[in-house]
Amino acid sequence: MKPLIAANWKMNKDIKESVSLINKFEILIKNIKNVEIVVCPPFTSLNEVNKLIKGSNIDLGAQNMYFEEKGAFTGEISPLMLKDAGCEYVILGHSERRQCFNETNELINKKIKAALKNKLKPILCIGETLEQREKNETMKTIENQLINCLNNINEKGMKNISVAYEPVWAIGTGKNATPQQAEEVHKFIRKLLLKIYNKNIAENTRIIYGGSVKPSNIKELMKMENINGALVGGASLDAESFGELCNIK
Ligand code: PEP
Repeated sequence: MKPLIAANWKMNKDIKESVSLINKFEILIKNIKNVEIVVCPPFTSLNEVNKLIKGSNIDLGAQNMYFEEKGAFTGEISPLMLKDAGCEYVILGHSERRQCFNETNELINKKIKAALKNKLKPILCIGETLEQREKNETMKTIENQLINCLNNINEKGMKNISVAYEPVWAIGTGKNATPQQAEEVHKFIRKLLLKIYNKNIAENTRIIYGGSVKPSNIKELMKMENINGALVGGASLDAESFGELCNIK
């Protein structure tokens, strides 16, 4: 399966900075064909970045969306608006949204359904906190998040979903999970997918890792059987380091 490497710029980069980053980055990765590369700028930069990556090997994604298509939802962005801005992907359920904006699995499930209905490919984020890991609740947490976020999503929908395992304690902390720690959870997620869906879905769903991924640790992570790519925050804000990250083979 083709690995997916996605950049989550979070609430960084104004339009001018986004243009500068994408212009530098595009040159560095223009010959890469064995990796699917996605960039997720803030909403205000989507349109401009979309114009610059047209015809390139970079796809566009958003960092969040609301589940309604339009109406009185002040401050929200709809799936139709993301499509209009050129998005193919959307990150849903990021731990920062769960923690800072109280997003629940039930809300994330509604967002996934709305994304699929509008032909956006969700990157569903799940992951345990440090407290949950220390209490030996990692697998229970992952199972609960995965089952509830994927409630009533069928095989057809699942074909367009990637799962990002992002241990909360590893995001933006510089402390990445070891390849073995990550692999253990990725393998567990694949087993759950087999239980909920079928062999085809379990084997072909991309399960990507996120949490302090850097050029210095990506190769070891990607050697693991069940790690099919990465979701990258901090290291994606610099063209050279994200360029290096995408050159994984
Ligand atoms: C993220 O934002 O999903 C992330 C993994 O961030 P970082 O790479 O900075 O840990």
